[in-house]
Amino acid sequence: MTQPALTNLSEDERLFRDSVYEFANREVRPLVREMDERAKIPPALVEKLFGLGVMNIEIPEEFGGSGAGFFHSVLAVEALSRVDPAIGVLVDVQNTLVINALQCWGDDQLRRTYLPRLAKNTVGAYALSEAGSGSDAFGLTTRATERGDNWLLSGRKLWISNAVEAGLFVVFATVDPAAGYHGITAFVVERNAPGLTIGKKEDKLGIRASSTCELLFDECRVPARNVLGDIGKGYKVAIETLNEGRIGIGAQMVGLAQGALDHTIAYIKERRQFGQPISDFQAVQHQVARAALDLEAARLLVYNAARLRDAGQTFLTEAAMAKLFASEMAERVTSLAINLYGGYGFVKDYPVEKLYRDAKIGQIYEGTSNLQLQTIAKRVIG
Ligand SMILES: Cc1cc2nc3c(=O)[nH]c(=O)nc-3n(C[C@H](O)[C@H](O)[C@H](O)COP(=O)(O)OP(=O)(O)OC[C@H]3O[C@@H](n4cnc5c(N)ncnc54)[C@H](O)[C@@H]3O)c2cc1C
Repeated sequence: MTQPALTNLSEDERLFRDSVYEFANREVRPLVREMDERAKIPPALVEKLFGLGVMNIEIPEEFGGSGAGFFHSVLAVEALSRVDPAIGVLVDVQNTLVINALQCWGDDQLRRTYLPRLAKNTVGAYALSEAGSGSDAFGLTTRATERGDNWLLSGRKLWISNAVEAGLFVVFATVDPAAGYHGITAFVVERNAPGLTIGKKEDKLGIRASSTCELLFDECRVPARNVLGDIGKGYKVAIETLNEGRIGIGAQMVGLAQGALDHTIAYIKERRQFGQPISDFQAVQHQVARAALDLEAARLLVYNAARLRDAGQTFLTEAAMAKLFASEMAERVTSLAINLYGGYGFVKDYPVEKLYRDAKIGQIYEGTSNLQLQTIAKRVIG
């Protein structure tokens, strides 16, 4: 049997991607600059994302979701990030981390309680990082103590995406600090849980519209039935969801770079110097050709990792490669975009300055580039 090319989309995948991109152009593009300046996503836009069906991609239809596969999440994140990577990450966290964690690790009761809400109108957030534990995520200190039918969570989480919009949090805490990572346990925490406060919102370099906040837990009461997966197995929940989430970040970076390249190609055909469009200069053509090559290579890595995941094959190294390469590629491509816009690239009246700022986060969250290199090295060197 001939294998289809990685970038060959099925009819369903193509229609889905095109409809998301069409939505992004119509509903998101007019708001991009204002959302970036105000560092806020209008609630009405979040509602429209639910209406579009991109907030519940992998939730089974019986729970009100779209019942699609992981590859659809990747296509949605890419198409949205082509217009605004801040919207891309909102959708990415919802699907590849929160829904994914509930789907894979939730028992029947948790899935029945929360998946319909996530499918309908509830944004999710994923709270692993703390001030003292980022790359060393399992060095976390948020403590969970059993009290009757509840767990009491105490501690602080930092850098939590979607925290402003979220109605539900997947939170990692330790039930036994002496047990190291074997004490880590995942909990599903509702926004109105007594003892949970959403703290300071970060003022960021890029993806400014995406909210990033501190979470404060002060004996926050979580029912025992809201333990996600087994007690002491939260590290597995984290590792496995982040392995997939990473592919989503690769998709965000691919979409972002495609957006920058779209703008740049239109601009160089318009902009005239020395009596001709700057796109007529071979030096410029070669730079753009190299960027297109870079982007295609990243897209292939991302699609390959996503398709491996949907096929139930191992994809750990491929996901790390995809995320690492795509995020570095996005920085290169957006930097070139600014160069080719000249002075206009350096000001906020043109779109590429924002995309350059947005690209930087790809090398930091869901595992820094050094951590991705570590994963790859472990596989290739042993
Ligand atoms: C905008 C934004 C959104 C985020 N969203 C979320 C979220 O929704 N949920 C969540 O839980 N977290 C989130 N994070 C946190 C993010 O995942 C961490 O910032 C990231 O994992 C890095 O951790 P750190 O910031 O503590 O850096 P550190 O771990 O302190 O790393 C600092 C530097 O040291 C390097 N380094 C560390 N250890 C090693 C090593 N062993 N070998 C080589 N180099 C090393 C790193 O590569 C990096 O260059 C977000 C962060 C940001 C900025």
